[in-house]
Amino acid sequence: MNVQIDLHTHSTASDGTESPRDVVASARAAGLDVLALTDHDTTSGWQEATEAALRGGVSLVRGIEISCQRNGTSIHLLGYLTDPDHPGLSAELARARDGRVRRLERMVELMAADGIPVTYAEVLAQVPRGATKGRPHIADALVHNGAVANRDEAFAQWLSNDSPYYVSHYAPDPVAAVQLVVEAGGVAVHAHPFTSTRGRTISDALIEEMAAAGLGGVEVDHRDHDAAARARGRALAARLGLLVTGSSDYHGGGKENRLGENTTAPEVLEEIEARSSGVTPVVWA
Ligand code: AMP
Ligand code: ZN
Ligand code: FE
Ligand code: FE
Repeated sequence: MNVQIDLHTHSTASDGTESPRDVVASARAAGLDVLALTDHDTTSGWQEATEAALRGGVSLVRGIEISCQRNGTSIHLLGYLTDPDHPGLSAELARARDGRVRRLERMVELMAADGIPVTYAEVLAQVPRGATKGRPHIADALVHNGAVANRDEAFAQWLSNDSPYYVSHYAPDPVAAVQLVVEAGGVAVHAHPFTSTRGRTISDALIEEMAAAGLGGVEVDHRDHDAAARARGRALAARLGLLVTGSSDYHGGGKENRLGENTTAPEVLEEIEARSSGVTPVVWA
């Protein structure tokens, strides 16, 4: 049997547009066998997703996507099967979520001062209860106001990392984040390492540093990677002894990414499960 495994998705616990329950239902409808829910800087969707997965149909890998930063470059780190109550990791995630509040406020202030039709109250009205706040919620307010047709347009016009309105927020160093994921019993996988922001992509040296700190894998098969980036990722993984994963980075209706558009091999998931001790492994359907 060809097992379909997608290890990177978002729900309304962060900037996806479907509830955790609905992401599980969409995964089943898309023919997936295993799904990881990896919301930005939070585990708050885990319980709902677990309940939905237990009702049958799809197996669940509980995960997070940690926003990290090194020298002004943004790096995303996936953490699978971590202990959600690990004090160090949960404190770091709380600090990052907290930093995102003031950062979003500041971005909206800069935009409004420049005549872009958006207020912070309008943005807050777009944030699902308890969700990690992010730029996509500013995009949603701009769509609501009719300034743009969709999130993509809002990012292209005003919200990209090289926009004059871009403001960063507190984010851990990627090496410290890898160490925290490992300490919390999880497996760390570098998400879409070759996504370019501000024309920069990260260096092999930083991935080597992360590997030395306990990085388990790299997400090679991702829509942000062309054939050359995938070849570079596979070569790097082979050289450093890292697992290779593939996933959709699904955000519901918020992005074009479709569930299962890239997938992970069953042997790789087995390794992730074998190496983790944070939470009961995969919730098997
Ligand atoms: P933030 O975490 O607030 O810095 O926002 C970054 C997030 O915005 C990314 O993780 C994506 O989920 C989302 N994003 C980035 N570019 C786009 C885009 N063009 N359209 C929709 N969402 C995007
Ligand atoms: Zn996102
Ligand atoms: Fe990401
Ligand atoms: Fe993501």
